[in-house]
Amino acid sequence: MTDDLTRLPGYQLAARLRAGDISSRDITAAHLDVAERQNPALNAWLTIDRELALADADAADARLGEARRGGEAAVDGLHPLLGLPIALKDLVSVEGRQCTAGSRILSGYVSPYDAHITERLRDVGAVILGKTNMDEFAMGSSTEHSAFGPTANPWALDRVPGGSSGGSAAAVAAYHAPFSIGTDTGGSIRQPAALCGIVGLKPTYGRVSRYGIVAFASSLDQIGPFARDSRDAAALLHAIAGRDDRDSTSAPAAVPDELLALPGDDEAASSLRGKRLGLPREYFVAGMEPGVEARVREAVAALEKAGATVEEVSLPHTDYGLATYYIVAPAEASANLARYDGIRYGPRLGDGDVLSNYLATRGQGFGAEVKRRVMLGTYALSAGYYDAYYLKAQKVRTLIKADFDAVFDAGFDALVAPTSPTVAFPLGARLADPVSMYLSDACTLPVNMAGLPGLSVPTGLSDGLPVGLQLIGAPWKELELFRLARGYEAVTAGAEWRGVEPPALTTAGDAGARTPAGAH
Ligand code: GLN
Repeated sequence: MTDDLTRLPGYQLAARLRAGDISSRDITAAHLDVAERQNPALNAWLTIDRELALADADAADARLGEARRGGEAAVDGLHPLLGLPIALKDLVSVEGRQCTAGSRILSGYVSPYDAHITERLRDVGAVILGKTNMDEFAMGSSTEHSAFGPTANPWALDRVPGGSSGGSAAAVAAYHAPFSIGTDTGGSIRQPAALCGIVGLKPTYGRVSRYGIVAFASSLDQIGPFARDSRDAAALLHAIAGRDDRDSTSAPAAVPDELLALPGDDEAASSLRGKRLGLPREYFVAGMEPGVEARVREAVAALEKAGATVEEVSLPHTDYGLATYYIVAPAEASANLARYDGIRYGPRLGDGDVLSNYLATRGQGFGAEVKRRVMLGTYALSAGYYDAYYLKAQKVRTLIKADFDAVFDAGFDALVAPTSPTVAFPLGARLADPVSMYLSDACTLPVNMAGLPGLSVPTGLSDGLPVGLQLIGAPWKELELFRLARGYEAVTAGAEWRGVEPPALTTAGDAGARTPAGAH
């Protein structure tokens, strides 16, 4: 019976919590049970903090009780995330808890303070269950670059969940939490959302404060929500977004309260009428799987049937996205990672001599992919090459942004595209060839280069594995993207694939909702 609570979306849990049917402790315990039981098979979590989570849950129950005594208005004033479980990628600082960023160089490091988003989540009363697995310093597309072993995809345990936020995506797909947090520098929220069959949003650059997040590439990194339903993802964005003086790139743009009131199916479906969507032809990249392309084309047909118009558009500089990203991101990473010197954070190796400590700590603390990025980045920034590589890449970045500007200036409400060229690939398949791994993000990177919001919403299965539909908007248009995603969820609500649960969960130790009542 308790397992059933894990199957409910956050907005329904919130309603039952308010109605007094269940407590945050019930909800939290149900999710912890499933997470603990399945984690040996999935490795989605690096830490599950049962006691701390239950304490958060009790505090949420007390807060709800107090609000009830204050009357209906006080209860209505509570955030829908109150008392609901959330998973944080292990690069979000939570005071007193580990923060490894998936790296050996930060093993044993304990955050001395809360990140901005952690403070916001505490303010609304969310329950932090623990920290999730990720590619080391968020570099990767499969979670295989984690120093703590890969995460398995809940749809097929021998496949990757995507990355770098693969742990957070797998945890939500496997019903360990209705909400989780990821970061997206080149696709690390949208791609794992697609590969795990859930919703993920990379907000506009500057929408969410990066204070207290382990930095990868500062001009590209954004924090964003995962959930199984766009209503939940929108509510989570509402909780974490907004200006914070401690991150000078966080913007004062208003955070719309409508994020908390996305429409139900009837209204959402009709809201697609009259929408003008662009389909960028360059996003059907070489190497795209036919099953992925088929699902995306079917999604386009469904959107048209619901009254939207979809026109082919061109973003001519798309092809340069990958090359410029792999100059800009490693360049910024090489600067950001200079701080891991064996003095300030994590373990200190070497024989005591400063240089020896530095070499030993970084040599043994960083994995191969991180070293590759540091080398690429320092090379691109070095005197003599800066103009040829870094500066040139920044100029091309402006052209990529101009492609998007032209389309939005022409009156398109959003773009629709594939999120990932392929479904979840087998563990190990792309490890030996870094460029094949980099190509995983061909359809997501340009959005980061341009600083735009991008969302991935499930759009069916190909050979039993999830496919994601990407929606890309003009800056600050997250609400519009969520409304479109909600519309798409509504028009596909009856689709057979909507009811399919990740089949590998049975093997991973979760009988879940399929267990007949009383069988526990
Ligand atoms: N896969 C890309 C990379 O390895 C993007 C990662 C991310 O978005 N953090 O850099």
